Order: sequence, then C-alpha cells, then structure tokens
Amino acid sequence: MIEMKDVWKAYPNNVKAINGISISIDKGEFVYVVGPSGAGKSTFIKLMYREEKPTKGDIFIDKTNLAKLKEKAIPKMRRKMGVVFQDFKLLPTLTVFENVAFALEVIEENPNVIKRKVMDVLDIVNLKTKARSLPNELSGGEQQRVAIARAVVNSPEVLIADEPTGNLDPDTAWEIMDILDDINHRGTTVIMATHNKDIVNTIKKRVIAIENGRVVRDEARGSYGYEA
Ligand code: ADP
Ligand code: ADP
Repeated sequence: MIEMKDVWKAYPNNVKAINGISISIDKGEFVYVVGPSGAGKSTFIKLMYREEKPTKGDIFIDKTNLAKLKEKAIPKMRRKMGVVFQDFKLLPTLTVFENVAFALEVIEENPNVIKRKVMDVLDIVNLKTKARSLPNELSGGEQQRVAIARAVVNSPEVLIADEPTGNLDPDTAWEIMDILDDINHRGTTVIMATHNKDIVNTIKKRVIAIENGRVVRDEARGSYGYEA
C-alpha cells in the first residue's frame, strides 16, 4: 500500500537527505524506522505524508503518487494518514475534545457523528474523563495520547509517528507503545521513527534502518542495532 521507488531528496541547501530508497510496506504492517541522528529518518517520514516532495522518484500511497500530487489534492490524501510528533503539537487553547474533533469539523462532519467518533477514540486512548481538559492540564503521556487520538479519529489507513516517545519517560513510553500496538491490531498500518532501543528490541516488528539516506537493513522482527 506504500511504495517508494528510487526516492531521492536533496534540500534547497543541497543537503542530500535521502539517496535512492526503494521500499514497500503492506497494509497492516508495523514498521520501526531507526538510524543515527541526521540519517534521514524524519525526511523519510515527511516524504510519506507529503510534507516534503522528493527530488526524484515515486512514492505511492495506494494508487496515488505523492511525487505527482497537486497541492490542492494534498488535504484529501492526508485524510488517509494520521501523523504524531515527538512534541505533540496540540492546540493549546482548545480542550482535548476540541483538539480531536478539529479534523472532523474541518470536513464538516455531522456534530453527532463527531461526538461519537471523538468519544470512541478517547476511549481507545483511555482519556474519556479528560475530554474537557486543556493540554497544559495533562501529563506528557496524556498529551501524546490526545495527539494519537487526533491522528486516528478519521480512521486513517496509516499512522505515521516521528519519535512519538522521544519526550517521555520510559514507563510512559511503554504506555504509548501499548496504544500504538492496539491501533495497529485494529487494522491501521503504523510507521514509527524511533531511538528507543528497549522498545524496538522488546516489541519485535519490522525494522528499516537508514544511514546516510539509504536503507542499510530491512528485517522482519528486527532489532535496534545501535547503542542506545
Ligand atoms: P534524522 O531524522 O535521521 O535525524 P533528518 O531527516 O532530520 O534525519 O535529516 C537528514 C539530513 O537532512 C541532515 O543532514 C539534516 O541536517 C538535513 N535536513 C533536515 N531537514 C532539513 C531542511 N529542512 N533543510 C535542510 N536540511 C535539512
Ligand atoms: P458528559 O455527559 O460528561 O458531558 P459527553 O460524552 O457528553 O460527557 O461529553 C464529553 C465532553 O466532550 C464534554 O466536555 C463535552 O462538553 C464535550 N463535548 C461534547 N460534544 C462537543 C462538541 N461538539 N464540541 C466540543 N466539545 C464537546
């Protein structure tokens, strides 16, 4: 369902971040993306949700080629994917409910449907009781759970997470992994860039290792492979 064919990305300053990557990821997979700092992991992830455009090569999400996608087609394509970041990126003046509802309000979903979908997804991340809270009233782990709820409320095919546990203590990181695993088992493909060696070596999944913008390792049930 996701396929990169000989993808290259040079930034305008001429930094060559991705240097000829070809991979495919099937529906329902859980994939860790690992590698040293500066290896190109974030760029790889950004190419997948069309935050960056490849300099060369094709990136298919189902039948859509992101490399050829018109600007005006981006919002519709993004509905197929949810994205989660290390720093949560919640809207600070909106409640938990409103943060999660936002994407559905943009597409003018019916208010009753919005309420049902938001409360269902807050149930999955165990935050129903915090629906009225503001982000700054929540712990880091809770904020990341809100961000995950927001990312999956549209039932995307793919959840993309760039270092989702990077700002969290170890126990909280494990809670986030339980939730991502649950979401994966409900049918969503999950792609997660991470530096968390313990998690990668314990919850065994496919591992794609990137160094200098190239895939140097791609293993089913792989290991982290670097010092933490
Ligand atoms: P990682 O996520 O593995 O740390 P990145 O994809 O962030 O790697 O970065 C890969 C390379 O691209 C690095 O050399 C980084 O400095 C560079 N880079 C990342 N983003 C930009 C940008 N917006 N403009 C220019 N260079 C960038
Ligand atoms: P309760 O009956 O305890 O209010 P609800 O399930 O009705 O529980 O709502 C949970 C939270 O979501 C409440 O904070 C409610 O105000 C909020 N909420 C419900 N619908 C909306 C909406 N359309 N926009 C913003 N907040 C909403």
